[in-house]
Amino acid sequence: MSARRRVVLVGAGHAHVEVLRRWARTPPEDAELLLVVDRNPAVYSGMVPGLVAGHYRRAELEIDGAALARRAGGRVLLEPARRVWAEKRVVITASDIEIPFDWASLDVGSTVRGLDLPGVARNAIPARPIDGLIGRIPHLVAAARNASSRSPFRLAVVGAGAGGVELALCFQARLRREAARPVEIRLVDARDRPLEGAPESLRRRVERILARRGVAWLGGRRVTGLEGLEGGSLRLDDGGLVTGDAVVWVPGPAAPAFLAESDLPVDARGFVRIGPTLQVEGLERVFAAGDCASLPGMPKAGVYAVRSGPILAANLRRALGGRPLRPYTPQSDFLSLLNLGDGTAVGSKWGIAFEGRWVMRLKDRIDRRFVERYR
Ligand SMILES: Cc1cc2nc3c(=O)[nH]c(=O)nc-3n(C[C@H](O)[C@H](O)[C@H](O)COP(=O)(O)OP(=O)(O)OC[C@H]3O[C@@H](n4cnc5c(N)ncnc54)[C@H](O)[C@@H]3O)c2cc1C
Repeated sequence: MSARRRVVLVGAGHAHVEVLRRWARTPPEDAELLLVVDRNPAVYSGMVPGLVAGHYRRAELEIDGAALARRAGGRVLLEPARRVWAEKRVVITASDIEIPFDWASLDVGSTVRGLDLPGVARNAIPARPIDGLIGRIPHLVAAARNASSRSPFRLAVVGAGAGGVELALCFQARLRREAARPVEIRLVDARDRPLEGAPESLRRRVERILARRGVAWLGGRRVTGLEGLEGGSLRLDDGGLVTGDAVVWVPGPAAPAFLAESDLPVDARGFVRIGPTLQVEGLERVFAAGDCASLPGMPKAGVYAVRSGPILAANLRRALGGRPLRPYTPQSDFLSLLNLGDGTAVGSKWGIAFEGRWVMRLKDRIDRRFVERYR
C-alpha cells in the first residue's frame, strides 16, 4: 500500500492554479495530487468584459487547470464535487464517486444571487457560470443586428457592482458597434448608487461615466422577477415593469449550495468559514480560499483569491510536513480597474480615481500577465 498522502483540490480557481503552478515547480515529497473540477479550461473573469466588448478572443482568457495539474504530476477528475464530508475525509462527486483525502482544499468560487426569483433562472443571462454568459454573447449580438425590428434593442444589466458596471458599458460599446438599430442599456440596482463599498472618488466618476455614455440608471429598485415572452422584462418592487429584449444578471455572489449541504461550517450566506491559515474553522485537514470562503475583512473579488494562492500553497506544504502554518491577511486596499469597453478604463487606488486609455493599457498588461503565468 502506498504511504503517499493524498491532497484533493476542488475547483481550479485563482488560488488553486497558483498551488498547482508551485507544486509543479517543486512537488512535495510523498504526496499525491488530485484536481476535481467541474469544467476545464477556466475563463479568467477579469478579461470577460473585454471579451464582451470584442477586444479579446476566448482562448486569450483561458486557464487550463487540468494541464497545470498534470504538469504537477497530479491526476484530474473532470466532474463537479457535490458534497464534502470533512469528518469522513471524502469528497463526493456528481456521479457519486467517493474520493478519500488526507488534505482537501476548496476554491470553487461563487454563483450569482437571485436565481430563485420568478423567471430569472429561465430567462436571464447570469454572469456565472461565466461559460454560460460567454455562450450567450453571439445570440445577443445577433438579436441586436436584426434589422427587421425598428424599435431599439434594450438590454438591462441587474447589479451595479464592478462586474455589472463593466458588463453594461462593454455590452453597450459592442452592441452599438454591431447593431442595426439603436441600443439602450439600463443598469438596475437595489442600492441608490453604483459600486457599493468602492471609494467615493471611483463611485462619483463611474456615475459621471454612466451619465455621459447614456446608460439609464435605475437605482433604488429591487427586481422581484422576470417576465415576458423574450424574458427581457423586469418586474420591480415599486410595481414598475421595465420591458426590454434581454437581461444580464449580476447582482452579487451567492454561495454554491453544496457547501451548506456538506458538514462544513458556513456563514449566514452559506460560504465556508475559514481562519487566517485558510483552514476551515475547526477542521485541520480542509482548506478553502477565494469567493467560496468566508473570512472577516475578505471581500469577494478575484484579487483576494489571487493573493491567498501563495499562502495556500505554502500551508498545504507545511501541513504535509507537519510544520506550523502561515496566516493570510487580506489587504485593506487594492488597485481596482474597470474596463469601459471603448478602449478606456477607470480605476482607483488609495482612494484616488483615474481614467483613460493608459488605464486600459495598464489593465490589459496586468490581466495578460496574470493569464500568461499559467500557460
Ligand atoms: C464579469 C465579472 C468580472 C469580474 N472582474 C473582476 C476583476 O476585474 N477583478 C476582480 O478582483 N474580480 C473580478 N470579478 C470577481 C471574480 O470573478 C471572483 O471574485 C473570482 O473569480 C473568485 O475567484 P475564485 O478563485 O474564488 O473562484 P473562480 O475563479 O470562480 O474559480 C472557481 C473554480 O471552481 C470550479 N468549480 C465550481 N464549482 C465546482 C464544483 N462543484 N466542483 C468542482 N469544481 C467546481 C470552477 O469551474 C472554477 O474552476 C469579476 C466577476 C465577474 C462576474
